Amino acid sequence: MNQEKLIEKSSQYLWLPFTQMKDYDADPLVIESGEGVYLRDIHGKEYLDGYSSLWLNVHGHRNEEINHAIKEQLDKIAHSTLLGASNIPSILLAEKLIDLSPEKLKRVFYSDSGATSVEIAIKMAYQYWQNIGRPEKQKFITLKNAYHGDTVGAISVGKVDIFHRVYKSLMFHSLVAPFPDVYHHPDLDDADEIRDRCLQELEEILREYHHEIAGMTVESLIQGAGGMNIMPKGYFKGVEDLCRKYNILLIVDEVATGFGRTGKMFAVEHEGVQPDIMTVAKGITGGYLPIAATLTTEEIYEAFYDDYNSLKTFFHGHSYTGNQLGCAAALANLEIYKRENLIEKTQEKISIIENLLKPLKQHPHVGDIRQLGMICGIELVIDKESKKPFEWEDRVGYHTTLKMRELGMLTRPIGDTIVFMPPLAANEEELREMVSIMSEAIEMTTKKYAGEKAV
Ligand SMILES: *Cc1c(COP(=O)(O)O)cnc(C)c1O
Repeated sequence: MNQEKLIEKSSQYLWLPFTQMKDYDADPLVIESGEGVYLRDIHGKEYLDGYSSLWLNVHGHRNEEINHAIKEQLDKIAHSTLLGASNIPSILLAEKLIDLSPEKLKRVFYSDSGATSVEIAIKMAYQYWQNIGRPEKQKFITLKNAYHGDTVGAISVGKVDIFHRVYKSLMFHSLVAPFPDVYHHPDLDDADEIRDRCLQELEEILREYHHEIAGMTVESLIQGAGGMNIMPKGYFKGVEDLCRKYNILLIVDEVATGFGRTGKMFAVEHEGVQPDIMTVAKGITGGYLPIAATLTTEEIYEAFYDDYNSLKTFFHGHSYTGNQLGCAAALANLEIYKRENLIEKTQEKISIIENLLKPLKQHPHVGDIRQLGMICGIELVIDKESKKPFEWEDRVGYHTTLKMRELGMLTRPIGDTIVFMPPLAANEEELREMVSIMSEAIEMTTKKYAGEKAV
């Protein structure tokens, strides 16, 4: 089919996620293929995948091993249900996940996206307390600017104003504690002080409400969609300690951070945090197929294990739960980590990125560069000194990424924070090229919008 026709049809029939379609129609993009860290559109133009195809891709596109594993599984069976029956790749993958994850986690409940893995975590925690005779523990506590996915349960523990405000009356109510946001803190600038104050405020809430609280949801070490905000050292461990002290289940969301993205297999390892429930998705299949999982402890599992008539069954499941093709892709993905010693190799790339980003720090409109492993956020401001943001309506972040697209690299911003999250497989030359495109786009776009405001 010719290219113009495809674009016309994409505008005619599609409704894209998290996209103002009026923007899309103004600048349509149709991807046809990919290879390594490159994506190619229907016109043959190539783009560096600067956001790992939305924080998923690990070893690049069309990885031979993952492709082969999927094809091999396809010749056996594509899918059979996990409701009341298991299958071979789902068993083998569960074993691998338990092997790789923190010690306390012993059971794997599959689903198909980050949001569903969080829904499951919430329902699991909620029912756990009922099953052990503490039905008054029904509430959840979360952090300001938290993001856990877009289904109604997941947005009920989500606190990014711009996404979540619209659906307020649809959601169940959650308690909110402040996030120790160092760059944006209104009156403190010392990270330790901010950490201590936030932990204090969290404890005040827990002291008052702990007997009603089932669990606390928290993104592992860094808030992603909330702006790439990294917790100060010791905060995460402090949250764990408070959850223990007040008998609240710690639900850690590793959807974005899992599988090496932060330089450890899971971000909890940075502070030795042991979740009661942990959600994983995005990188689990190397970015190839929709598999997610909610991992939990034997203690929680056992609270559901009884005669059917006790009605303690976990009443949750999705049609494609435990999909064989996806689990086979995930197994192949994890095999590459092991053979290539990938987590170890990632350390070098992390420091390469750190060095490449250094010059950008000096840029008059780069307010902050936040990096945790292979996850980076570059926040653009109109005034570096006062940290004053650009006018919201100018959409400087969005326009910067459009300029990057023109220059041959794809990513999506969070407000005026440019997300830079290359696949773990990106080599030094590719990383250099990505940072160079990003720097040029930042220079051109910020100049334009800052200049316009000055006159
Ligand atoms: C992306 C993300 C989710 C949602 O995952 P989906 O697969 O998009 O539903 C949940 N939590 C975090 C931290 C995420 O980054």
